[in-house]
Amino acid sequence: MDYQKFFESKISDLKTEGRYRVFADLERQVGKFPKAKNHYEGGVREITVWCSNDYMGQGQNPVVLDAMHEVIDQCGAGAGGTRNISGTNHYHVLLEEELADLHQTQAALLLGSGWMANMTALSTINAMIPDCVVISDSKNHNSMIEGIRHSKADKKIWKHNDLAHLEEILSSIGTDRPKMVAFESVYSMDGDIAPIKEILDLCDKYNAMSFLDEVHAVGMYGKRGGGVAERDGQMDRVTIIQGTLAKAFGVVGGYIAGTSAMCDFVRSYGAGFIFSSSLPPAIAAGARASIQYLKEHNELRERHQERAATLKRRFTEAGIPVLPSVSHIVPVLVGDAVLCKQASDDLMEIHGIYVQPINYPTVDRGTERLRFTPTPLHSDADMDHLVNAIKEVWGRLGLKAAA
Ligand SMILES: *Cc1c(COP(=O)(O)O)cnc(C)c1O
Repeated sequence: MDYQKFFESKISDLKTEGRYRVFADLERQVGKFPKAKNHYEGGVREITVWCSNDYMGQGQNPVVLDAMHEVIDQCGAGAGGTRNISGTNHYHVLLEEELADLHQTQAALLLGSGWMANMTALSTINAMIPDCVVISDSKNHNSMIEGIRHSKADKKIWKHNDLAHLEEILSSIGTDRPKMVAFESVYSMDGDIAPIKEILDLCDKYNAMSFLDEVHAVGMYGKRGGGVAERDGQMDRVTIIQGTLAKAFGVVGGYIAGTSAMCDFVRSYGAGFIFSSSLPPAIAAGARASIQYLKEHNELRERHQERAATLKRRFTEAGIPVLPSVSHIVPVLVGDAVLCKQASDDLMEIHGIYVQPINYPTVDRGTERLRFTPTPLHSDADMDHLVNAIKEVWGRLGLKAAA
């Protein structure tokens, strides 16, 4: 076999389908977010980032950077091993305590990323509980799907956020068989939010574990940034809360939180935890400083929600078709893969605005979109610039207006 030919042909498949990914080459600059440098064929230009998951600008918060600098100088670069073999640094221990406090759980367990946390926890728990069945929301993230698949447990898909369908499946399984309901709080492509209380009521009724991915909510919802479950007063009812340190907290890493027994179980049996080197101590220190900071700065969460509401209103007033989101995510429907890419390219090249096109398979065909994520650091002037630019692009490309 000509292996290189094979690789090339698979790449050219993506190109013909219009799904080949081109990365924007960014150079982030402390103190300037959401502005950044963009390296392109013609040189370097300054652009405004409108699709970052650094939702609160914590990636440049001096409190976070100071904590990281200090611990780099104190402990050095890497952790030096897996958690079990010389790689448990005191800053990992402190961070896990901080996370347990954030979610008011007995314990928390740190992993290399949110993806690894989902993969490891879901695969380990559902593989080891005998005859376990997982009921998974149809819009769950890839990392949850992979974790469930890897567990080899029976899997049932429930229609996205559909309580009647969830109950139908739960009642067909019965209360005796072990089961887990796996879902997210904020779904990041549509910006809708799960009915957490009602889902947990069903989990109670049918004796199911609950696994809640709060990746797009931690730091941003709840009085201390514990997520939507905190906001809704449901945090103590969830069996396993999963989150990331890479989005609102602005650093990198993932975790689960819950009982001591559950965390100890994943610590002791989870391959993705056991066999992977732990995060650098400075990362753990930065994440901890970020969590502490966001716990105490609810006004940032208020400003974040205000910015999102303002952008939705301004787009709507301009006739731009905003999809119905109840969160900080502002999705704008284009409905065509080629036009979506074209709109994104024009915004970047003509207007210095960076928003990545979201195409299949991340979203369904025909629902291709631009996904804006305003942060507390996007100013009114940034919004004026964006709204004028998008009106220009919408008119010139003849894109669909709001219904
Ligand atoms: C980004 C994301 C993850 C993965 O988290 P990382 O820390 O980026 O690996 C998990 N779940 C959802 C819903 C996500 O959007």
